[in-house]
Amino acid sequence: MNDLARIEADVASPLGVNHGVAPRSVMVLLVDDQIVIGEAVRRALLSDPTIEFHYCSNPLEAVDIARKVAPTVILQDLVMPQVSGLDLVKAYRADPVTRGIPIIVLSTKEEATIKSDAFMAGANDYLVKLPDRIELIARIRYHSAAYLSQIQRDEAYRALRKSQQELMEANFALQRLTNVDGLTGLSNRRYFEDYLETEWRQAARMKEPLSVLMIDIDHFKQYNDTYGHLAGDEVLRKVARAVQDTFRRPRDLTVRLGGEEFLVVLPATPHDQLAMLAQRAVQAVRGLDEPHKSSPVAGHVTISVGAASCVPDKDGEPYALVEVADKALYEAKHQGRDRHAEA
Ligand code: GH3
Ligand code: MG
Ligand code: MG
Repeated sequence: MNDLARIEADVASPLGVNHGVAPRSVMVLLVDDQIVIGEAVRRALLSDPTIEFHYCSNPLEAVDIARKVAPTVILQDLVMPQVSGLDLVKAYRADPVTRGIPIIVLSTKEEATIKSDAFMAGANDYLVKLPDRIELIARIRYHSAAYLSQIQRDEAYRALRKSQQELMEANFALQRLTNVDGLTGLSNRRYFEDYLETEWRQAARMKEPLSVLMIDIDHFKQYNDTYGHLAGDEVLRKVARAVQDTFRRPRDLTVRLGGEEFLVVLPATPHDQLAMLAQRAVQAVRGLDEPHKSSPVAGHVTISVGAASCVPDKDGEPYALVEVADKALYEAKHQGRDRHAEA
């Protein structure tokens, strides 16, 4: 059964199945030093097989027994040797295990001040002993049912909180998966498209320049052919990390567009810095010194970079900037690779 089905089942049958956590049937604990009272209550409840009965004649053991037995209602004598019944009521209320259990005080007298003291101490009900069998059973049933449905509600609430938490975590994980490129850990094209839109609008509002670098690994097909696809994947990871480490301002974003193509979004970056920034990326990949013996350009892995910059107009098309950078990249390839070109 999944969590939701379990919650539905619990809510549908508040006195239903036992989950082994909390009591699910009516269970009475009588605390009274007089054995005759214990015997009389036991006999009164005997006629109802759905009520379990426990009896404690030693008030000093009462709280411990209540903790162990987990009754759904406590019948508590008021006058006992050694401990007062009212102090016991307070002790049940102070103990985290027994704090919620309904308590019916059994008194010898119908007296307003004693009643008031009992309720003040935390009792839920007050009976003059010995009440008649039908009234006793009715009150036991009433308080037990209220207590059990409270436990059910608490459990359902806890289960609900737990599944909400799990759902939230799953959603986070899912969102990360849909926005992240599995091979390099960089953001992917999908995330980039949203990001570019956002930065475009922001730059238009602030009248700031927005720049992008389009990056492509040189002769990567030959790299794969020479060293194998797995080694190629490793190079993609290294290049990704090198480029990302080059652009560390908080709003800079490096993405893997797909294949061996990367793109860097550089908000608030003017055109006159493009050459320097693009060269930094070229240099960073050279610095990896990753052998590429079949490359006609150099003995190691290199990249080409196309750079473009503009001051966005709010009605303009963000992707046009990427296309300009792509043209510049083509130009850098054409000029011999392992370099940048700018639009
Ligand atoms: P150029 O310098 O003109 O960019 O040449 P190139 O060989 O890099 O370009 P081309 O577009 O012809 O080939 C790109 C290669 O990138 C082909 C493909 O096998 C490889 N590639 C694309 N995605 C992956 C990948 O995820 N892993 C690996 N190992 N290789 C990839
Ligand atoms: Mg390439
Ligand atoms: Mg390519």
